Amino acid sequence: MTSLFPALRGATADRPALRFGDRSLTYAQLAAATGALAARLARYDRVAVWATPELETAVAVVAALEAGVAAVPLNPKSGEKELGHILQDSAPGLLLTAPGTELPSAVAALERIDIDIDVQGTGGPSPASPARDGDPALVVYTSGTTGPPKGAVIPRRAVATTLDALADAWQWTSEDVLVHGLPLFHVHGLVLGILGPLRRGGSVRHLGRFSTDGVARELNDGATMLFGVPTMYHRIAETLSGDPELVKSLAGARLLVSGSAALPVHDHERIAAATGRRVVERYGMTETLMNTSVRADGEPRAGTVGVPLPGVELRLVEEDGSPITSYDGETVGEIQVRGPNLFTEYLNRPDATAAAFTADGWFRTGDMAVRDGDGYVRIVGRKATDLIKSGGYKIGAGEIENALLEHPGVREAAVTGEPDPDLGERIVAWVVPADPQSPPSLEDLADHVARRLAPHKRPRVVHHLAALPRNDMGKIMKRALHD
Ligand code: ATP
Ligand code: MG
Repeated sequence: MTSLFPALRGATADRPALRFGDRSLTYAQLAAATGALAARLARYDRVAVWATPELETAVAVVAALEAGVAAVPLNPKSGEKELGHILQDSAPGLLLTAPGTELPSAVAALERIDIDIDVQGTGGPSPASPARDGDPALVVYTSGTTGPPKGAVIPRRAVATTLDALADAWQWTSEDVLVHGLPLFHVHGLVLGILGPLRRGGSVRHLGRFSTDGVARELNDGATMLFGVPTMYHRIAETLSGDPELVKSLAGARLLVSGSAALPVHDHERIAAATGRRVVERYGMTETLMNTSVRADGEPRAGTVGVPLPGVELRLVEEDGSPITSYDGETVGEIQVRGPNLFTEYLNRPDATAAAFTADGWFRTGDMAVRDGDGYVRIVGRKATDLIKSGGYKIGAGEIENALLEHPGVREAAVTGEPDPDLGERIVAWVVPADPQSPPSLEDLADHVARRLAPHKRPRVVHHLAALPRNDMGKIMKRALHD
């Protein structure tokens, strides 16, 4: 297979590629930096990357891909136990770090290369690697939202096809400049946010750490796109009313994209009302890269993740395994997908890999959804944590969360089910009040939901919290709520 990054060779050499803070590289400089490093990596099968939000992380991953070596991005904030598990599981031959990085003892035993980026470098790109498109490009550990993280082996083919499908859906070109404020050890921040712009021959400006000021500054200074997780768009929605620069920046952006978790309808609507821009939602997973998106040339609808991307087959399947054949926007089924965007296996987990696929090769996402007659997918929640069976109904947590968030007394909300002798399960609301001095009562919230949705969807229990437990992508850790 040829390089995943044609822009490293040739015509676009003097164009900007990466910028992190005040350090940046053109394509020519990136080609020199990654070419030199790739030559040193070629003899390994797998290399780990200490994935801080720095230039070195991007250079390390691109160099590994250029060398045809699988990169394993590590979350620098992982605890010793999780790091120990990931290192034992992935057995990397080497660790790539930015110079001066202090490392915890779990990784101290690994052979290490401090990446020295020589911006004067005059070397060229690495010679074409012999890697084939089924060879592993990345081993990315899942977010661990529902259990211990699993290492998804992602082939080069999946990276190429998912990025090209997004280019089609988002009309993403070499002219685009991305504003990036996400960590680099998950698919969202690494594959979409770094490899995406580089595959297009465009550029990325990483904020180091997300801030609404940084977003406004970059979008007002020539950046065209923003990728974020829902907690970032929530911060934006909360900030807009007092920040005309931010409003102006978003109004002028070409594309605002949200993913990794459901974007609350309330935040989508507030941003649309203030800026005239509708955030485009896309849906993906570590195991599948991207599955669906609202298209740049399509109709953005709050609360939906759009339509399957080119090349992705998607179906909804009932509990007995039969595919739903006619979409009515109401019948809930599990999303299953098939296509060149899929991972190959969970590393060292043949049991989990086998359980994840049907006999005819569909991947069971574990996400539940409905689909409209015109193909738009609306995610209801995860099968394991977000589907509440109460009083003979199957109720998705997501729509109740959306309804609760529209209550003026609610800042954040999560909904779960707990056993109930009469109902099977009862609906429990976990609420961060807007004003901790006067939290909304159960009666008030139950009435609000019953009026907006249906009486059987009203919460029966409410807990008030100071904050919801979230992971580094802002995903609500529902497992932690009941503890
Ligand atoms: P683990 O698999 O370890 O429990 P995880 O599923 O959170 O963790 P990821 O692969 O990072 O790990 O996340 C994929 C999941 O994120 C999807 O299965 C889906 O539940 C959720 N998700 C991603 N994008 C969206 C979206 N736009 N709307 C709703 N949910 C989304
Ligand atoms: Mg998962």
